[in-house]
Amino acid sequence: MNKKNNVGIYIHIPFCNGKCPYCNFYSVNFDYHMAAQYVTKLCDAVSIWGEKLNDKSADTIYFGGGTPNLIGHDNIIKIINVVKKNFGQHQLEISMEINPCSCENIDFKLLREAGLNRVSVGAQSINDNELFLLGRTHTFRDVQKCLYTLKSSGINNISFDLMLGVQEQNSESLNRSLNFCIHNNIDHISAYMLKIEKGTHYYKIRKKLSVPCENEEADMYLETNKILKSAGYTQYEISNFCFDNKKCHHNLKYWNLDEYLGLGPSAHSFINNKRFYYSSSVTDFLNKPQILPEPCANQEQEYIMLRLRLNEGLVYDQFEEKFGYSIPQAYIFNAQKYVKTAFLILDKSGIRLTPAGFLVSNKIISDIIY
Ligand code: SF4
Repeated sequence: MNKKNNVGIYIHIPFCNGKCPYCNFYSVNFDYHMAAQYVTKLCDAVSIWGEKLNDKSADTIYFGGGTPNLIGHDNIIKIINVVKKNFGQHQLEISMEINPCSCENIDFKLLREAGLNRVSVGAQSINDNELFLLGRTHTFRDVQKCLYTLKSSGINNISFDLMLGVQEQNSESLNRSLNFCIHNNIDHISAYMLKIEKGTHYYKIRKKLSVPCENEEADMYLETNKILKSAGYTQYEISNFCFDNKKCHHNLKYWNLDEYLGLGPSAHSFINNKRFYYSSSVTDFLNKPQILPEPCANQEQEYIMLRLRLNEGLVYDQFEEKFGYSIPQAYIFNAQKYVKTAFLILDKSGIRLTPAGFLVSNKIISDIIY
């Protein structure tokens, strides 16, 4: 039997209860009937792609959104089973993002029995004033209840999203959020800096927001690094920290330029060296799904750019294994000007950024690849 290539499956659940003012992910207001139709269409799409990609088998499934838990455990289980049927049954990492304020009606034990083994909680902070200013509808109490539900359901790989650089945040409040995660042995933490993106409500009112300045934000990032490392976490990507074997294997596919299939409006894919995505419209997806091509950048440069987001960095042997030739010297030459700074380490095995380097990674990476 031919060995199948692994692929990650991303399932976008585009429903939320309202819109957070900083969010630029594609989502619409939750509607029970629309969600039921959506799940049917999604399962059809999984079967169609399963036939098209019959040389590939899924090793990760990731439910993102939106708020995946809004569609309920029965629908999630249905989708998991359809993916398993069409993309193989072997050992899978199955992750789901959840919103802490809407997980009471979800039976995580049933989800765990169906294969769910990783849950990512959109906590963002444990400080109610910060959550309120972020426009989140949950409170610290909801985060506690949600964590209790997950742990008592036997979910033993829990990730928390935390946000850095939010209004009213300071070193003390950041410490409270980090210490909550540490004391509760949260396996994985994604600590993202707040970005004010065009098209969001925050962008419209950006001049009125009292967010920390760039220097304060940088201090918070370095402090997060220090606190989590001294608590035993390993940083493996610019914004991601975990206990030993709890890296998110699905997200690693993006940074390793491995294959993934994204299903649902706005979901992106990288398959057979081609990039494409579904249009950002539930209506399109329900009636006539639009799949649009995305220009492919230079893959060598893209790989270097993505790998330099990882702590492991750009490893020459892995580059050679991926592309079949040694890393071109020009990239090493470009990186050399940073050797004497605190931003980058260059040795026989490869090039990697330090935490201080991650803060200015855009500049360093573009200097290396162009
Ligand atoms: S819950 Fe998440 S996906 Fe939904 S609007 Fe808020 S940030 Fe965006």
